[in-house]
Amino acid sequence: MNPPSHGVTLASIYEARARIQGQVARTPLVRSLTLSERFDAEVYLKLENQQPSGAFKLRGATNMIAALMDRDGLEALQRGVTTASTGNHGRAVAFAAARLGVPAVVCLSELVPANKAHAIEALGAEVRRVGRSQDEAFQEVARLVNEQGMTLVPPFDDPLIASGQGTIGVELLEDQPALDRVIVGLSGGGLLGGIGAAVKGIRRGVQVTGVSLSQGAAMWESLQAGQPVDVEEVASLGDSLGGGIGLDNVCTFALVREVMDDHVQVSEGAIARAMVDLLQHEKILVEGAAAVGLAAIDEHGLDIRGQKVALIVSGNGVDLATFDRARSLAGR
Ligand SMILES: *Cc1c(COP(=O)(O)O)cnc(C)c1O
Repeated sequence: MNPPSHGVTLASIYEARARIQGQVARTPLVRSLTLSERFDAEVYLKLENQQPSGAFKLRGATNMIAALMDRDGLEALQRGVTTASTGNHGRAVAFAAARLGVPAVVCLSELVPANKAHAIEALGAEVRRVGRSQDEAFQEVARLVNEQGMTLVPPFDDPLIASGQGTIGVELLEDQPALDRVIVGLSGGGLLGGIGAAVKGIRRGVQVTGVSLSQGAAMWESLQAGQPVDVEEVASLGDSLGGGIGLDNVCTFALVREVMDDHVQVSEGAIARAMVDLLQHEKILVEGAAAVGLAAIDEHGLDIRGQKVALIVSGNGVDLATFDRARSLAGR
């Protein structure tokens, strides 16, 4: 059998698992009594909000940095790893690099607020302030890679990143071997693609449902167009699901096309209600992107009756002002 063009296999996911074991949290899968009762199903929450960096992205970043260390030696990485994300991926790269003893440089535009820069510095990374836009920050990343030999750790579009995220799927089936379905937030597709490859590799029949924002759903629009397309990015409570998939996408477009069975889009109101529900009933405070699984069941009346369903609670990056906004939007 030819290896898939996207490079993500059950074998690459098990390799990732061996590599990152002890470096990332093995997060709990908890059965929700209230949601199980409400939807007449067995609803489980995979608590990636409990990763020490605050989101699942630690898995992919740790896998990539550790794999490159194994392959090229620590020497090759002493010039550092770099990225330009202000959000969960930037935090993950900073955290993983510090853990593995590799220098990290996170490039941020001057518009990124100081508290976000400090949070990344507190994890041991160097923050470099460049330009007045994310584009200019990316230009600095490219320069560091091309001129100083640093290594780019991309947020999703790489087999090592997607395989790292796929370790979630292995854990899901260890904890609930009879799982019927997993509902996953979809942006660049590292998370859904990795989990999909894992669960389907282990147990063919597991249904993989993707959830995107109602506007700027880059992967969904690309799948419908048959090739990667650009979308306009809009502000959302689910900000971690924003952004494009890259017109030169090499991995996750093909991967998501292969493993995703169905897909829905969720409104801001549904995300807001799901965030409030998760705090009120499950006592977990999560960001909008982490609540879209519940939002999807609620808003679209997905028929999950009698199924064992896992929702991926992907991250905790929310502040009180944003939660307040969600609460007033939810009318509670
Ligand atoms: C990045 C992210 C996602 C989406 O992951 P992709 O691999 O880009 O699809 C979902 N939730 C949170 C909290 C994230 O940080």
